[in-house]
This record gives sequence, structure tokens and C-alpha cells, in this order.
Amino acid sequence: MNLDKLKTTDGIDVAGKRVLYRADLNVPAKDGVVTDATRLERVVPGLQALAARGAKVIVLSHFGRPKAGPDKENSLGPVAATLGGLLRRHVSLAGDCIGQHAHTIVDAMKPGDICVLENTRFHKGEEKNDPAFVAALAELGDIFVNDAFSAAHRAHASTEGLTHHLPSYAGPLMMEEINALKAALEVPQRPTAAVVGGAKVSSKIPILKNLVAKVDKLIIGGGMANTFLQAQGLDVGKSLSEPDFHGTASEIMAEAKARGCDVILPTDAVIAREFKAGAASEVVNVTNVPADAMILDIGPASVANMTAHLRQCRTLLWNGPMGAFEIAPFGEGTFTLARETAMLTKAGTLLSIAGGGDTVAALNAAGVTGDFSYVSTAGGAFLEWLEGNQLPGVAALAR
Ligand code: AMP
Repeated sequence: MNLDKLKTTDGIDVAGKRVLYRADLNVPAKDGVVTDATRLERVVPGLQALAARGAKVIVLSHFGRPKAGPDKENSLGPVAATLGGLLRRHVSLAGDCIGQHAHTIVDAMKPGDICVLENTRFHKGEEKNDPAFVAALAELGDIFVNDAFSAAHRAHASTEGLTHHLPSYAGPLMMEEINALKAALEVPQRPTAAVVGGAKVSSKIPILKNLVAKVDKLIIGGGMANTFLQAQGLDVGKSLSEPDFHGTASEIMAEAKARGCDVILPTDAVIAREFKAGAASEVVNVTNVPADAMILDIGPASVANMTAHLRQCRTLLWNGPMGAFEIAPFGEGTFTLARETAMLTKAGTLLSIAGGGDTVAALNAAGVTGDFSYVSTAGGAFLEWLEGNQLPGVAALAR
């Protein structure tokens, strides 16, 4: 995949044209109320820019996982209303993303209007990338703009199929996300570091293997660090660990050594006997974890050591928490390292890029999301990129 082949709509005359704009409106919602509008806020500039250039902007998105056709719970209605609020304008919702409903709404649009089409996943053809469904969607547009990086790991009708029918372009948020990942992995300022955490090694093996070949320092924390410590012969008591993956952990360490990648593991840990909020905890050296205790966070010496390594780096990619950050007091390691990263970023010595579901929640809890250089809106797509996979939605635009 040649990312240089990605085209944007810059310089394209979109006035009066029907622009099928794939956004990711799949935001958290409860009882018909959007609970986190971050993804909507991030597409607002792209939508406004197209509307200001006189395009008729027709927004497509999936929402949730509807099982059998349309249902109220998975309707984009409340999301379209919230989006309209952010855009400070009326955004009409077509009750179906294809067929007569959609055509009636689109035919009535004037240059500069924005409408949302109902959940693409109300049709089975979306996830199957069914040619008849793709053709029915394509009838509604003159050009296709994909601004949903976070859905680009799926080869669905609205992420991949449409590129075979319409002149296709990458939207501004798509470009932002790709440029951030390029800056971290493809053309980074060295030395580079990756902070990888989270529960298990088993779910991040491809990421760890890809990163040891790319970064200068790999900083490992969270439950997955326990398996690495155990593989080195340390006793981790009752901590979350995966003994079946000792071999994998050792292979990753050996590969890192061969590639000249420095692996930094925790040297101390916050331990507790119970996995619950407010549980009595203490800090111990990783060589001294009692048999009846669990490691639930990295300790202050680990944070200091990791920060010292980050001070030597120019670029950082972060995925995954350093501990069970959702439960106090086991978030402190993640939060402190995140704050140190934010300070280095503000001081201008570190380009910091973070992404992947839990990571953003952890940075939000630390109050530093706005102080990182870039925080991705993507979960699965971000992780697949870190694994070194081609994302079908991006590859289709770069064809
Ligand atoms: P992941 O989805 O793999 O990024 O894992 C995120 C989850 O890992 C979070 O819910 C954390 O609470 C959990 N986690 C991180 N460190 C630990 C740990 N030491 N013990 C148990 N769970 C942890």
C-alpha cells in the first residue's frame, strides 16, 4: 500500500456535488443519549468545510450491532440530533440509507446542506460488502469521502465497496490519523519508544512483534508485564499472567535484543490481596511479590525509570494502561506516566501519539488527553495498524 497515493478533496470542485461522506458516528450512547461525543466533534471540521464549499454532504455510518434489520436501539436518530447541535444547524435524518427514503431526502438537498442516512448495518449487505447494496448506496452520491479511519479495518460496503463505484478521497480526520501513525512508525524522529500495556500478552503478540522491529525502546506495563517477569523466573504470586505465553515473551525479548530494541519492564509494583476499589495496597520490588498478592499497577520507581527513558526519546506511541486504572488506587502508575509524557510533549521534546479504546479512557482519567500530540479516535483500526496490517478501508483509497 502506497500511502502517498491517498487523495484528499483539496482542489476538487465539490460545489453542488453529492458527497457520500463515511464518518464513524458509532459513539457511546445510553437510553438514546450520546454519552461521549468525541468522535462527532472530530468530524465536525470536515463536514463544515465540505458544506462551506457548497457540497451536499450525505453522511453514512454504522451504529452498534443490530442483529436483524432496523431497530430503535440502534437508530442514528439521537446521534444525528447531537451532531446537528455541534454543527449548529439542522441535520435531517433519512429513515433508510438506500431506496426511496434516502433518495427523497437527498433529492431535496441544496448545496451546503448536511444530512445523515440511517444506520448502514440495518442492511446485511453492509458487513457482507454486497455488490447490490454497494450499488444502491453509490446511486446517492457523485463522490465518496471516507473520514472513518476507526472503521477502516473492516472491508464493508461503506468503507471499501463504495471506492469501486465513485471517485474516492480520504477525509481530513482520516489523513490526521494516518499522518500521526506515519510520524510514529514510518518516518519518526529517533529515538522512538512504544509504551504497551493492558491485560494480556496473548491479545497483543502481533503488536509487540511488530513494534520490536520498529522502535528503539519498548516499555511494557500492565498485566502483560507479569508474564514477561514470570518468564524471567520471577514469582508474580496471584497476579494475572499467562504461563502458556512464557515462550512468546522470551521470543519477543530475544527478537528485541537482536534488533537493538531496549525492553523496559517494571522494577517495582503496587500489590494488593483483593482486586477491588480501596483495597489495602503496598509497593514492593518485582523480586519480592508475596505468593498471596496480585500486581495491579507499576510502582513509582518503574514510573521514574520509564520517564527517564522517555526523556531520551523524540517519538512515543502509547497503547494500553500500566495497571488496573479503573480501580483506585491502581491507576496512579498509568496516570503519572501519562502526566510525565504530557509534560515532555508540552516541553517540545517528545511527539506523543496514543490510541486504542482503554488508552483514551486512561488518558481522560489522567486529565492529559489534550496535552498529547495526537490521540486517535480509533480502537481496533489503531491496533491493527500497530500490528503492521493493511487496513482495507485505507488500502482501497490508496489504490
Ligand atoms: P487491554 O484491553 O488489553 O488494553 O487491557 C486493558 C485492561 O487491562 C484494563 O481493564 C485494566 O484494568 C487491565 N489491567 C491492566 N493491568 C492489570 C493488572 N496488573 N492486573 C489486572 N488487570 C490489569
